[in-house]
Formats: sequence, C-alpha cells, structure tokens
Amino acid sequence: MEIRITGLTKIYESEGKKIHALDRVDLTVPANHIFTLLGPSGCGKTTLLRCLVGLESPDEGEISIGEEVVWSREKGVFVPPEKRGLGMVFQTYAIWPHMTVFDNVAYPLQVRRLPRDEIRSKVAAVLKLVQLDALENRPATKLSGGQQQRVALARALVAEPKVILFDEPLSNLDAKLREETRKELRQFLTELGITAVYVTHDRVEALSLSDSIAVMKDGQIVEIGSPQKIYFQAEHPFVADFIGRANLIPGTVETREEDLVAVETPIGKVLAARGPKVARGDEVTVCVRPEFIRVVADPLAEGINTFSGVVESLVFVGEAHEGEVRVGETLLNTRIDPDVRVRRGDRVGVRFDPNYCFLVTR
Ligand code: ATP
Repeated sequence: MEIRITGLTKIYESEGKKIHALDRVDLTVPANHIFTLLGPSGCGKTTLLRCLVGLESPDEGEISIGEEVVWSREKGVFVPPEKRGLGMVFQTYAIWPHMTVFDNVAYPLQVRRLPRDEIRSKVAAVLKLVQLDALENRPATKLSGGQQQRVALARALVAEPKVILFDEPLSNLDAKLREETRKELRQFLTELGITAVYVTHDRVEALSLSDSIAVMKDGQIVEIGSPQKIYFQAEHPFVADFIGRANLIPGTVETREEDLVAVETPIGKVLAARGPKVARGDEVTVCVRPEFIRVVADPLAEGINTFSGVVESLVFVGEAHEGEVRVGETLLNTRIDPDVRVRRGDRVGVRFDPNYCFLVTR
C-alpha cells in the first residue's frame, strides 16, 4: 500500500526555542517497497515515523495511507493509531517475558477476539515464516536476542498490517547477528510483498535492506534514491559523505567530452564519468570512495586519474589497510589491498577509474 506525505511539519518547543523536527517533508513510499529513512541522530526520523503511526500530531501537512487520508489539519482528519492498519517493530522488542513465543505472537489476535482455531493457524503460519515454529512453547526470555527480535516481527506480522514500520529494530543485536537478521528481514518482507518504512542511522543496514533510501538532515529530506544511486551517484555532498566514506575534492570543470568530464583539482586533472550536466567553468566537487582508489607501489605510474603521493597513515582493518595518502596538499582516504606492500612514509602511486568517480554540484 502506498504512503503519501505532503508538506509535513512538526515543531517542538523546548526551553523557549522552536525545533523544526520535520520541515515541510514531501515523500511517497511506493507500495511493496522497503523504504528507509537514514540520517544522523536528531534529523527527524523517529518523529516522521511517530507522525505516520499517529502517536504524534504534526503541525502542518497531510498523510495518506493507500487511498485514505489519515491525518490532515486542513481537512480536520485524524485517524487514530489502531485504525491505520500499521504494524510496528521497535529497537526494544517489547515482548512479554512471562509468556511463551506462541502467546506473545497470538496476543494481538486474542485482543481482537478471533476464534481459537483461526488464531492457532495464523500464529503457526507466521512462526514458520520467521523460523520459530520449533520454539513456540518456549518462554520468550529463554531466546537469543535475534530470536526475540523475530518474535517481535512475528507479532507485528500476524495482524496482517498494510504497512509495517521499523525503528532501528536491529540496533540491540551484535554485529554478526545483525547481519544475518538483516538478510532474513529483507527476504521476509520481499516474500510478503509488504510496504515497509525502516528507520536507521546505519548506512550498511540502509544499503543492504532497502529498495529506496531517503537521506534526512535537520528535519528535511535531502535526497531519495535506490541504494546504488545514493552510493555511486549522490547529488548532494552531504549524502555522498554520509552513505560511505568519501573523498570530496573541489574543482573547476575544464572540458566535457563524450561521457567524461575533465576537472581541474588541487591533485591535478581528474576525469569523471558520472554526475549531472555541467559546463566549462562550473565549480564542482569530485567524489571518489576509498575502496575505488588503488594504491600501487610505483610512484611514477602513469595513466588516467593516476597521481603520485606519500603514505601518511596505515590502519589494519582485517581484509585490507585503510591508508591516507597525501597528494600535494590533499589527503586521500584509500583502501590498500593486502598484496600491496607499503609502509608509512613510502612514495606510491594512486589511481582510480573515472567510472567510479562522480561529480556533485551543490
Ligand atoms: P535518533 O537517531 O537519535 O533517534 P531522530 O533522527 O530519530 O534521532 P527525532 O527523535 O525525530 O530524531 O528528533 C528530531 C528533533 O526533534 C531533535 O532535535 C530532537 O531533539 C527533537 N525532539 C524530539 N522529540 C522531542 C520532544 N518531545 N520535545 C522536544 N524536542 C523533541
């Protein structure tokens, strides 16, 4: 089911100051999409979710779920939370410790006074989906963190919501479990064909889970796009930097030929294959991610986007080294593969493919 939000504004007052938690947000979440709200702490993600659920009353704007307007001050519409057909999974799982897995999941259906047989079959189906069918009689407290999170998910799903909302649901899990649960979650949601709005400040979670990502800052949506678009060709420097580590190099457009734009920068002439339409003389920012910069031992290496520099620092991160290489006055963040043997202070060559180098203009 599609969600449409227009002009949504929420202002809080704190110590006599006005905080624009949401500032004229326009957003359409397509039906059956996993849509992520990503942004730094305090940018308004949770407020947006709370307005959608109906736990918070906005100051301006309109929210529709499917064909139904669920909130509009202008039209005097307020559909209460329980009538919006939404399911919600929070960071804290909020499962009942004194109940079994089955009873936890059955609870929303018992509240609705559904017949016992129907409850049994619906709960069984959803427990199978989240692979907890073998544990239905276990007390909820005797489960691992990941299993408890799946109980919370099952409880949200059993009520067959039109839309399911997630507020940082994986942040209490350890790194390995978070990765596994992320994969499972994407699979469940895709199989169910359900619309999901997912709040996180974890960029890897956003990239791996979502069909679309909306990056937020200071109560506004800065940019919306597919994970690939946001990662490889963000339009805004804030987004380019927030979604992953990025080298942002200022420059001036020199020429534009076929598919490549030549940019004069402090490290020399850089060719970039991706970016918006630009003209000679335009001020731009060249963006290239550390993982696409190859460090070669030969400092005299020649070729397109190949420069000479000095290794300033090296940090071992397991599968590679993160290395800072100074080219002229510019410090480039790079990833150095284990087969390239370099030490701090070495003169090296750095090179990057124009196809993994994009321009941002704002
Ligand atoms: P986080 O990732 O830390 O949860 P967030 O992006 O979800 O952050 P919100 O919780 O939506 O951010 O908060 C947005 C802004 O509104 C922040 O500046 C916050 O301090 C402010 N805010 C949120 N709730 C209230 C409140 N009840 N009263 C006053 N200010 C609030």
